[in-house]
Amino acid sequence: MYVVLIGAPGSGKGTQAGVLAETSGLAHVASGDLFRAAVQQGTELGRVARGYMERGELVPDEVTIAMIMERLREPDTARGVILDGFPRTVEQAQALDRALAARDQQIDLAIYLRVPTEVLLRRLSGRWICRVCQATYHEVFRPPATPGQCDACGGELSQRPDDRLETAERRLQVYFEQTLPAIEYYRRRRILVEVDGNQPIEPVAAEMLGALGQTTR
Ligand code: ADP
Ligand code: ADP
Ligand code: ZN
Repeated sequence: MYVVLIGAPGSGKGTQAGVLAETSGLAHVASGDLFRAAVQQGTELGRVARGYMERGELVPDEVTIAMIMERLREPDTARGVILDGFPRTVEQAQALDRALAARDQQIDLAIYLRVPTEVLLRRLSGRWICRVCQATYHEVFRPPATPGQCDACGGELSQRPDDRLETAERRLQVYFEQTLPAIEYYRRRRILVEVDGNQPIEPVAAEMLGALGQTTR
């Protein structure tokens, strides 16, 4: 089972991927988390990705596709994967299709989390991330029990530099230019399900689990 979560920055991909992975037992693969880990560790990949991320641009397809394909070779992905943040361009979607076809697999479901732009900016400006386990909080919509501390692991929470207004606006622009066509790609393939992401976290999760259940049957 291969599921793609696609939506704008702040649409709730990471939050919902966490819920879906926990319920379904599928592995959660988040391209942004992989890039941030590489930057933190100072690897060659991180060195390449860093500038693009700081500017709110996409990391080039070739680099991104290679990183994801390497991740998909790890054994925990054998039963299936929830892809969060990848693909983000038509070229990435096509590369993923080719790679899966080569191992007799395919994308079963693409879920598009639709959220109005003004809501996205409010979500990004209040987002806090656990430095240790990447769990995501929001200062208003999903506050941690203790301010500044992760409920799951006690780790320290921090804000992403690219969630600052100017960079967030650039990321949204990039989303409209480069990712909307990828959504259309999945719509034409007839595996796209649209979910109203502008509701509280639980009802969104329920709709997504419903879509997943429909696909499994
Ligand atoms: P968000 O959760 O806000 O959508 P991510 O954490 O997924 O953001 O991504 C952060 C940054 O990492 C992006 O702005 C981009 O620079 C890079 N990135 C993540 N996924 C991709 C991708 N599929 N293709 C290119 N760049 C990516
Ligand atoms: P993405 O991975 O698509 O960029 P996140 O899952 O990181 O999005 O969510 C962005 C921010 O919005 C986070 O601070 C998160 O806690 C919050 N959030 C996620 N889903 C909802 C929701 N349904 N309602 C309100 N806030 C939400
Ligand atoms: Zn944590």
